[in-house]
Amino acid sequence: MESSASSSSAAMEVFWHEGMLAHDAGRGVYGRDIDPGFLDVLDQHPENADRVRNMVSILRRGPIARFLSWHSGRPAQITELLSFHSAEYIEELVQADASGTGTNKICECTFLNPGSWDAALLAAGTTLSAMKHILEGHGKIAYALVRPPGHHAQPDRADGYCFLNNAGLAVKLALDSGRRKVAVVDIDVHYGNGTAEGFYNTDNVLTISLHMKHGSWGPSHPQSGLVDEIGEGRGIGYNLNIPLPNGSGNAGYEYAMNELVVPAVGVFQPELMVFVVGQDSSAFDPNGRQCLTMDGYRKIGQIMRGMADRHSNGQILIVQEGGYHITYSAYCLHATLEGVLNLEAPLLDDPMAFYPDDEKYTMKAVDVMKKCWKASIPFLKDI
Ligand SMILES: [Zn+2]
Repeated sequence: MESSASSSSAAMEVFWHEGMLAHDAGRGVYGRDIDPGFLDVLDQHPENADRVRNMVSILRRGPIARFLSWHSGRPAQITELLSFHSAEYIEELVQADASGTGTNKICECTFLNPGSWDAALLAAGTTLSAMKHILEGHGKIAYALVRPPGHHAQPDRADGYCFLNNAGLAVKLALDSGRRKVAVVDIDVHYGNGTAEGFYNTDNVLTISLHMKHGSWGPSHPQSGLVDEIGEGRGIGYNLNIPLPNGSGNAGYEYAMNELVVPAVGVFQPELMVFVVGQDSSAFDPNGRQCLTMDGYRKIGQIMRGMADRHSNGQILIVQEGGYHITYSAYCLHATLEGVLNLEAPLLDDPMAFYPDDEKYTMKAVDVMKKCWKASIPFLKDI
């Protein structure tokens, strides 16, 4: 199937550095060392390099490749981190990295091993480079393909596999460069609590997070993600949580985008959009309980592009977060970026979406049954 970019679409710039693959968070179910010795085979930590290797390869070898151009990322300077994070917290991480060669458990499930800090600096710096590319007018759509992820990292603490808040740092750069209003839409299956916390008191940044209802998960993640966390002081109303029922799929997400996100962003009128993507909202993710498929991600990408075209002169920074199914995360990423490119037809079929969780599958099944009836039941041959 041949697709072409519509007249309004532009090429996408991908920012990436292979040094981010050096972060090794170890092994164990969900990153926890919970097996007392019963199992012969342990999973990799969910946030492993393989998941991102596949994201890189599908973008390089998949049909979307011809729409992408690639840029090398770079490490962030320590001083750059202080726009979002406290000096004490950054010093804590620097000391942990310098303390030796072993594993440093920074918080639950979040491990700093040799190579991890350099990877975290690359993730932050690469996201800043992607944002700078847009701010300086070199391109309108940039995608920071980064790990370790960032949206749980709060100004003064690590959380949920995240050390540095890559998207938050990029938003700060935009504000420091003169942009007055930035909207952040986060579709990772978990609450973007770190980004919310960083901008909780400001009305310059509208943070919106669509996530499954998972609640707080301990000292590193005190936020609930419920609808009543709406910001504080000047920021009241500028943090919008959309905790979707577990099991929400394509139709539910599209409805939430159109009924809640699009109107809210329309009122806010951002000068720049930041699209925080996690493929752990997919139907097959080990860390999520939602049911998005490639079609759903593609639609969300299109809706995001529409908002960017209407409000932000088409400018949109996309930042990678979670997504832990090593195969399907890459395919869903491909579909998401197809959506943002606003292509006329899908470039890639979905190899895995067979869960009967939305009407499309019902319609396909009905079509097949109808064919069978017509072929094998005489009095129904003309239906
Ligand atoms: Zn997540």
